[in-house]
Amino acid sequence: MNRLNELPAGTPAPGRITLVGAGPGDPDLLTLKAVKAIRAASVILVDDLVGEGVMAHARPEARVTYVGKRGGCKSTPQATIEQLMLEAVRAGENVVRLKGGDPFIFGRGGEEVESLRRAGIEPEVVNGVTAGLAGITTLGAPLTHRERAQGVVFVTGHPQKDGPGVDWARLGQAVQDLRLTLVIYMGISSATRIQAGLLAALPPETPVAVIERATCPEQRQCLTSLGALLDDLKTSGLGSPAIMVVGDVVKGVRAALQEAGAAAHEVLA
Ligand code: SAH
Repeated sequence: MNRLNELPAGTPAPGRITLVGAGPGDPDLLTLKAVKAIRAASVILVDDLVGEGVMAHARPEARVTYVGKRGGCKSTPQATIEQLMLEAVRAGENVVRLKGGDPFIFGRGGEEVESLRRAGIEPEVVNGVTAGLAGITTLGAPLTHRERAQGVVFVTGHPQKDGPGVDWARLGQAVQDLRLTLVIYMGISSATRIQAGLLAALPPETPVAVIERATCPEQRQCLTSLGALLDDLKTSGLGSPAIMVVGDVVKGVRAALQEAGAAAHEVLA
């Protein structure tokens, strides 16, 4: 384990904490390191969007707390989660903080690590497969392609606290000028704003894929275009959690699905 900071003198023997990426849902996408950490944990704090199969690796006697806001539970305030982590580590527990996808991609992992460091605790972080990577992969197409995209932008559709929000028109222009793929997290509820902004820079026929619950048994997806995005979201009924992928790489999806002999009903719109 890497411990960058020594604990202040006089601190009681602490436990340890690992922020673990649980991947997008399919438990087979867990890393071996994640499985080892989950198996060893005495306390597990579980976020939203952690696949059910992932928890099968936990010891039966592990104390498991669900702190996510979906599934009928009320969301636990971030400060409370950070407090729970601190208390457990200080009580000598082996704590795993389990987060959907990758802990450091839109998962507040950064905030949690900073808060632990302020308390003199250096957590370990185990990467997970982020939903933005897994989404289009399940449809058989890549995020970069020598002829279609020379880079990828992971961006949140959720307006940032106290921030100006994403300038979608500028981002669209960059996608156009630099031949990038746009991977939008948390974009469903802002789809109107995203579509309008991107259309200022990108043609309406720009291909878009929306993938709901990627890698989970209930995964659904919609292949559409920027111009038809809102209408197709409505008719398909796709909702959160979903990843939107915008750009020419999405052209590879239809071909891949056809080659794989995918039934028409598997691809909405
Ligand atoms: N840390 C996570 C992202 C957390 S933000 C990761 O690396 O994947 C939550 C957003 O992630 C959701 O609103 C959705 O946009 C996306 N997301 C998470 N899991 C998903 C899944 N299985 N399928 C599609 N999108 C998902």
